[in-house]
Amino acid sequence: MSVPARDYAAPDPAVLTPALDLLKRVWGYGAFRGVQAQIVQTVAQGGNAMVLMPTGGGKSLCYQVPSLLRPGVGIVVSPLIALMKDQVDTLRGLGVRAAYLNSTLSLDGVREVESALLAGDLDLLYVAPERLLLPRTLDLLDRAPVALFAVDEAHCVSQWGHDFRPEYQGLTVLPDRFPQVPRMALTATADDRTRADILRVLDLGGAPQFVSSFDRPNIQYRVGQKDSPKTQLLEFIRAEHAGDAGIVYCLSRKSVEETARWLQAQGVDAVAYHAGLPPRERTHAQDRFLNEEGLVVVATVAFGMGIDKPNVRFVAHLDLPKSMEGYYQETGRAGRDGLPSTAWMVYGLADVVNVRRMLASSDAPEEVKRVEAGKLDALLTFCETAACRREVLLAYFGEAYQGPCGNCDTCLNPPQVRDMTREAQMALSAAIRTGNRFGAAHLTDVLLGRATEKVVSMNHHTLPTFGVGAAHDEKTWRGVLRQLVSLGFLAAGEHHGLSATGKARTLLKGETTLTLRADTLMPRASRRAEKQPRAGRAPVATEDQPLFEALRAWRLDRARSLGVPPYVIFTDATLKGVTELKPTSHASLGTVSGVGQRKLADFGDEVVQIVRDSLDGRPAAPARTVTPQERGARDNAAVLGALRARPQEPADPAPALLGQPQPDPAQTGRVAAALREVRRTLTQETGLSAFLIFPNAALDALAQRQPRTEAELHGIPGFGPKRIETYGQRVLLAIRTALTDAG
Ligand code: ADP
Ligand code: ZN
Repeated sequence: MSVPARDYAAPDPAVLTPALDLLKRVWGYGAFRGVQAQIVQTVAQGGNAMVLMPTGGGKSLCYQVPSLLRPGVGIVVSPLIALMKDQVDTLRGLGVRAAYLNSTLSLDGVREVESALLAGDLDLLYVAPERLLLPRTLDLLDRAPVALFAVDEAHCVSQWGHDFRPEYQGLTVLPDRFPQVPRMALTATADDRTRADILRVLDLGGAPQFVSSFDRPNIQYRVGQKDSPKTQLLEFIRAEHAGDAGIVYCLSRKSVEETARWLQAQGVDAVAYHAGLPPRERTHAQDRFLNEEGLVVVATVAFGMGIDKPNVRFVAHLDLPKSMEGYYQETGRAGRDGLPSTAWMVYGLADVVNVRRMLASSDAPEEVKRVEAGKLDALLTFCETAACRREVLLAYFGEAYQGPCGNCDTCLNPPQVRDMTREAQMALSAAIRTGNRFGAAHLTDVLLGRATEKVVSMNHHTLPTFGVGAAHDEKTWRGVLRQLVSLGFLAAGEHHGLSATGKARTLLKGETTLTLRADTLMPRASRRAEKQPRAGRAPVATEDQPLFEALRAWRLDRARSLGVPPYVIFTDATLKGVTELKPTSHASLGTVSGVGQRKLADFGDEVVQIVRDSLDGRPAAPARTVTPQERGARDNAAVLGALRARPQEPADPAPALLGQPQPDPAQTGRVAAALREVRRTLTQETGLSAFLIFPNAALDALAQRQPRTEAELHGIPGFGPKRIETYGQRVLLAIRTALTDAG
């Protein structure tokens, strides 16, 4: 899927140069991604645009940058009230003048935003659609300078989608009332019908449509056979995503709660989420997920819309989604930040029978049922495929992807396929001869020649099919039956009974053959022994792990003190960049992607200090890319750090500074305890995190050196002039007291 080149205007440096400058200065990014540049240019020049981009593709910048380039305020229509605060916090953290208008604001809050809007003091304003449509808001917008309207989650206009919001249809007011203001529609989900609705409501008929590939290359797709689902899930989390944030989807509220409890009992930090929980509990779960680093949310599909957390490292399905759309959307919540992530799913015969049966027995009109059955067929075909999963997935959405991708289970562990026409015929005839009404367990008994009570009472041990499948084991037959149900040769009816469908006829007559995945034939042990692909938990090299973790810990502290989610401070991708470059100066930190001017001013000192501490604490690991200035600065810091810090390092048994007696370890311990205590008091007084008062490296050095005067404080690593000025006297007092008490 791509847009004809003629739809895109030629690059215009008059717009792109300032746009790139802004991108670097505010966001700290070096380049636009994919079609972002064309979109920004189109809208900055006053044009309309329709933007179709997958989750994580970078839609926000497409309207944020033009809003800053054009005079006036960019109005962003977003249905997700819960999310607006984070979006606005993120922008404010970048130094952008952003605000929101929704029902969570007090009347005073609303007035404040309104006057800022009229005074031209806002760059971006997020509004809920129902708020936008109020006459009061529209009047206000008549009087305010508006740069553009961006309609986010634009698929909400369409009744065809599952996120339909009636208020969105009222957005026709935008082209009617503000025809001169550029309009953008942005969405990650739009089939042809939805797209047509969006174009109609926002009158975007003549506007260029920017469609990106819907591939999410950083997501590893894996689908496996269900065995003991909870244990499989636990093994997966432990082996690949210990300590990571993830979402586990289950069908029922009951299994959500059970799974969450079970994971907790196994030491995984997990919480349940479903629509049946009291609102307070749900909000709490969602807040924890956004604000903590490594929480696993076990949820029904009620959880997800509005989860913009960029570092969700895995999405696991313990039950089948209803469609490919559902699967794509749910798994799409992983890895918005572009770092390696996993979409993991297990399913089995019972699941396939269940979803088929639920659909068959629903009261929906035939027409709706047919559409849903088609969607389910596609999903099950995807599950059973032996081809590259990404290819099948993207083909469903009309995108020709040239696989194999090398990053899905079938690419990494190609399954054997076998001509199983004969086995399929046996299974189908077992179903037919037993009257098309028995479940998989009974059919398996018949095929294997097991004269169970039920088999005998039904007289099925006298059928010619009885025992024809004895050459295979039970697992094989369950696999064959599952695939036959998945592929529509068997239908699931009431009481889980399986019946041969019209499609089965050609197969029974031998007119078609059937190739099935033979992995179901594989003995369990060898399947276990297979090397499982790994998406990789840590996005950084092993030797850089301590620095990455130190940065994450600092970020979490900082986020808590500012009352924002950690990713609002820096994304994982940015911390990864810092970990790789190891910048020890503002200048080099500023070259890391995601560090703009404002972030540099706000957090530069702290981040640089953490990097220095880590370089001081161990032999400097070579960074991957180092600029010459950077190398100079780092060498200096490393040399100075080594000169100052080495003699005091607790691990180093060498005496302290030349000529000074080595401190008594008991005394050192007392001083360290006193310093920790004073630091604790200071954190309470200032509300700052312990690290920001002074880092552990400084604490250790102080405990070793035991300075008595302000002059002696100079040269302690991690305790620079600013800290000496602010905390010096308190620290000296603590040291003196600890030593006097001892003496
Ligand atoms: P979407 O809204 O399409 O799901 P976002 O706008 O949230 O995606 O962007 C996803 C992530 O990619 C964010 O962390 C964003 O900062 C980052 N990103 C977007 N554009 C760029 C770019 N040009 N360079 C680097 N990172 C980018
Ligand atoms: Zn693949």
